[in-house]
Amino acid sequence: MSASPAVLVINSGSSSLKYAVVEPDSGTMVADGIVERIGDGPIADHGAALQEALRQLAESGRPLEALPLVAVGHRVVHGGPDLYEPTLIDDALIAELEELAPLAPLHNPPAVLGIRVAREALPDLPHVAVFDTAFFHDLPPAAATYAIDRDIARQWHIRRYGFHGTSHSYVSEQAAAFLDRPLESLNQIVLHLGNGASASAIAHGRPVDTSMGLTPMEGLVMGTRSGDIDPGIISYLSRTAGMSVEDIETMLNKRSGVLGLGGAIDFRVLHKQIESGDGAAQLAYDVYIHRLRRYIGGYLALLGDTDVITFTAGVGENDATVRRDALAGLTTLGIDIDDRLNENPDRSARRISAETSRTAVLVIPTDEELAIAQACVRVIGE
Ligand code: ADP
Repeated sequence: MSASPAVLVINSGSSSLKYAVVEPDSGTMVADGIVERIGDGPIADHGAALQEALRQLAESGRPLEALPLVAVGHRVVHGGPDLYEPTLIDDALIAELEELAPLAPLHNPPAVLGIRVAREALPDLPHVAVFDTAFFHDLPPAAATYAIDRDIARQWHIRRYGFHGTSHSYVSEQAAAFLDRPLESLNQIVLHLGNGASASAIAHGRPVDTSMGLTPMEGLVMGTRSGDIDPGIISYLSRTAGMSVEDIETMLNKRSGVLGLGGAIDFRVLHKQIESGDGAAQLAYDVYIHRLRRYIGGYLALLGDTDVITFTAGVGENDATVRRDALAGLTTLGIDIDDRLNENPDRSARRISAETSRTAVLVIPTDEELAIAQACVRVIGE
């Protein structure tokens, strides 16, 4: 067994707990897994889920006691206005995270539960919170500010926070490394297209815009989330359809996006439905691509000159059709995908643009667990 330090990374959702053991130095994923259906059947709560994760690790021949663990890293979705640096967790930080629950009611409470049970189970290790909002903390005010009553915005901490920051930061660094160019020399667009999806524009290493906002609901069409809608829809439904705010929020989060339009969350299924002539699936796909292209166009205008566009996450890494349609017809803007390279199912970081393309187009696998593990090691000074 290697003696390289390892970090246990925990990502607690409301009904699942994802875990990974990562060596931050080598980037090796020693083990990973997911415990699902928390609160449903034998996995009664997050404590039971963590015990199940530890049992799975032991069963796979990698009991935690035998690993050179130096820290536990926790993905926390929302850091609110004040928390953004990766932070050593203590009781005061947990109290602060609990106060942020109203800003991220779907995401932060399960993260806090995960932190609590992990600290109880592994009390001798430092635990570190890594925030999904961190990378976007310094968004320029023009990008971070909603044009709403400024006193209300100030009082309630309403701004655009942005999410998937760990991924956007990691992928933009990897893109610079792939091109063998300094991060500071590049203007980049990163398209993180997973079940959740977000885009960012990054100028000289600093984000200048991102598609998610106060919550992870804004922006692109996602697996189950609507992304941008007219806020008038909410008041209209509340007044006329008798839906409560919670009903509307659940609909926008869980029954919208490509699922709500096309009946499938997974793009592999969506493509099959389209092939079989399913008009609803076709419309879902068309709406998804239309929104994505609007953001890409907006970011091209913001950046002025774009050196690289990178696709990442489940859809971005695997779906050549989405990549093709996202950037089709942009030759006059200097963006040209090479179809053969695009369709190559290689899973490593790769270039898919033609030699003639002024803007490089890349596919880079994201690795949020590794980025979290590296952040942990920086915090604890290993
Ligand atoms: P999450 O946001 O949950 O981390 P991922 O980044 O893992 O999600 O993305 C999951 C999604 O990626 C799936 O729902 C599916 O739509 C898409 N996906 C995964 N593999 C493929 C594939 N081979 N082709 C097309 N889409 C894929």
